[in-house]
Amino acid sequence: MRYTIATIPGDGIGPDVVSEAVRVLRVMAKISGFGVQFTEVLMGGAAIDATGSPLPESTIEACRAADAVLLGAVGGPRWDGLPGNLRPEAGLLGLRAAMGAYANLRPARIFPELTAACPLKPEIVGEGLDLLIVRELTGGIYFGERGTSPNGEAAWDTERYTRAEIERLLEIAYRAARTRKKKLCVVDKANVLESSRLWRRTAQEFAKRYSEVETSFMYVDNCAMQLIRNPRQFDVVATSNMFGDILSDEASMITGSIGMLPSASIGSAGPGIFEPIHGSAPDLAGKDQANPLAAILSAAMLLSYGLKREAEAAAIELAVSSVLAAGYRCADIATGAPGETVLGTRAMGEMVARAIEEDMHEKPQPSASTRR
Ligand code: NAD
Repeated sequence: MRYTIATIPGDGIGPDVVSEAVRVLRVMAKISGFGVQFTEVLMGGAAIDATGSPLPESTIEACRAADAVLLGAVGGPRWDGLPGNLRPEAGLLGLRAAMGAYANLRPARIFPELTAACPLKPEIVGEGLDLLIVRELTGGIYFGERGTSPNGEAAWDTERYTRAEIERLLEIAYRAARTRKKKLCVVDKANVLESSRLWRRTAQEFAKRYSEVETSFMYVDNCAMQLIRNPRQFDVVATSNMFGDILSDEASMITGSIGMLPSASIGSAGPGIFEPIHGSAPDLAGKDQANPLAAILSAAMLLSYGLKREAEAAAIELAVSSVLAAGYRCADIATGAPGETVLGTRAMGEMVARAIEEDMHEKPQPSASTRR
C-alpha cells in the first residue's frame, strides 16, 4: 500500500510542528511496511508571499490528488492588514470547501499524566478525559441567508439545515462512536429552534439504526454547563456548526493545553484535512519551542480517519502516552514537578518516533544533543 500525503506547513510554528508529524509518519510507515510520499505545498501567508494568493490552484490540485492533507497553521501579524479574501485564513476556508470537508472532529483529551494542566478540580476530571466533538462545518447559520435592513437598525442571520446535511454529519458521528465508548449525545436547542427539531428527528432515526450506540439528547445551554460540571459523561457529541464552534473551544480549554489537541476535517468527496487546533504562534516560530504533540496526534487522526489504519494511529497515541509517562514535556505543558524533563520541538518529535520504534514500555532516552 502506498499513500500520498499533501503537507501544508503554513506559517509561524506550522513548519516546526509539521516536520515532527512527518518524522513520526515516516517511522510508522517503515515499521508497518506501507509506503508514504509527502508532497509539500503552499498555503496562507507563505503562499501569499510566493504567489499573491493564500490558496494557489496548484495547492488545491495537489491536495485533491492526495490521500490526506496534513496542515500546520496559517496566519501572522505580517498579513493582518490584507483584505479578508486575501488573508491567510481565507486559504483555510477555501481548502475546506474545496475538499468538501463538512465534518470537523475535535477530540478533547486529557492524558492522565497531564491532569494538573486542567483548570477543573481533580475530582471532576478523575484519571483523565477523552471526548470527541463532531461539528457540522459547512452549513447552518454561518452559511445561511443574512442581511441588514436599509436603515441599519436590524440585521439577521439564518440557521437553515437540510436533512441530507444532518444525515451525513450524523453518519460520521455514529461511526466514530462505534469505535469508541458507543455513546453519542446530540446537542441542539430543540425546545426553541425548528432547525434543531429537524436535527432531533433525524437523529432519532439514526439511533434506531445504530442500536449498539447509546443515543442521548441535550440542549446546548445545558451542554455548556455539563462540560464543566461533569465532562466525563460525554463520549461523542454531535452538533451543528455554531454550537460546535462554541462547545469545541470550551472543551479544548478544559484540557488546559492547546499544544496537545489535534483535529480532523473530513467529508466524503475529497481527502480529509488533519491539523492541530492551535494557530501559528508567531511568538514561538522557528525557536524549537513549540509543542509538536498536537500535530503528531493529528497525524494519528490522519492514519485512523484518513487512511483507515487504526492500529498505527493507536500506536502513535500510545507512544505519546509513554513519552509523557516518562516525564518528558514541552514548555507549555511543563509544571516544574520533579521528574519532568523539558524538551524542544525536535527532541519531542524524536522521542515519540523512538518510542514507536522501541518497546513502548521502556523509558526512551533523549540523545545528549537534544536534551534541553
Ligand atoms: P495561537 O494558537 O497561535 O497561540 C495562542 C497561544 O498559545 C500563544 O501564546 C502561543 O504561543 C501558544 N501556542 C500555540 N500553539 C502552541 C504550541 N504548539 N506549543 C506551545 N505553545 C503554543 O493563537 P493566536 O495567537 O490567536 O493566533 C496566532 C495566529 O494564528 C493568527 O494569525 C491567527 O489568525 C492564526 N490562527 C490560525 C489557525 C489555523 O491555521 N488553523 C488557528 C488559530 C489561529
